[in-house]
Amino acid sequence: MGLRGRCRARAKRSRRYVLNADPSRQLRLLDLQAIDTRLDQLAHARKTLPEHAQVAELQTKADGVDGLLVRARTELGDVQREVAKAEADVQLVRDRAARDQARLDSGTGSAKDLTALQHELTSLARRQSELEDVELEVMERAEEAESAATQLEAQQAEIRRQLTAATAARDTALAKLAQEEEQVAAQRAGTASQVGDDLLALYEKIRESSGGLGAAAIRQRRCGGCQLELNAVDVARIKAAPADEVLRCEECRRIQVRTPESGL
Ligand SMILES: [Zn+2]
Repeated sequence: MGLRGRCRARAKRSRRYVLNADPSRQLRLLDLQAIDTRLDQLAHARKTLPEHAQVAELQTKADGVDGLLVRARTELGDVQREVAKAEADVQLVRDRAARDQARLDSGTGSAKDLTALQHELTSLARRQSELEDVELEVMERAEEAESAATQLEAQQAEIRRQLTAATAARDTALAKLAQEEEQVAAQRAGTASQVGDDLLALYEKIRESSGGLGAAAIRQRRCGGCQLELNAVDVARIKAAPADEVLRCEECRRIQVRTPESGL
């Protein structure tokens, strides 16, 4: 026999390999499939909870406001240092003017000295007025920076409150899913043992390669796996098969289980 012939023979042999399982075991397999489908749905729901997106969105917002607040506080600190410097500048001129005024009031010194002191007092008064304008401008900026920081602090508090609420909502939803998962998983072991090891192994192998669906009922002459209608040849083959023969769909290769709704 050539290579081609051997392959064909092997294919035929594997195709002819038939697993037998009592119809009640086959029906339990449908129950097991329902359990596994529900577990898959729950796992999917856990990953795609809308609460995940809400938490992520609020976290991004919170990070953004945190960054803005750090900048606003740095700016406020800088302006507050400018205020202190402007105040010190003004104080320096005031002190100097006070000293000059005291000397002038004491009347000591020559007429020339006194005239010079008066000149200096005039120019110090001008300088003080200029520096006070600077001080005022800086103080206004400090007020603005402080109000900006206060506003951001309020925003941060509000977003953190929302984030805490969203996180709690997500955790509640996760706990609910986990609880259902636990209940469904508890049923699985018992059902799997009723299916039996040989049928279970075949089912799990197919399920892995068929998007989670390893076994399906035939409903109204339609495969519940691929939804294709059985042709006349399939119907004849299935009708001729013993009740305990484990059938496979010719199209999708999934296990086909006969039920009273199969229309056969
Ligand atoms: Zn099919």
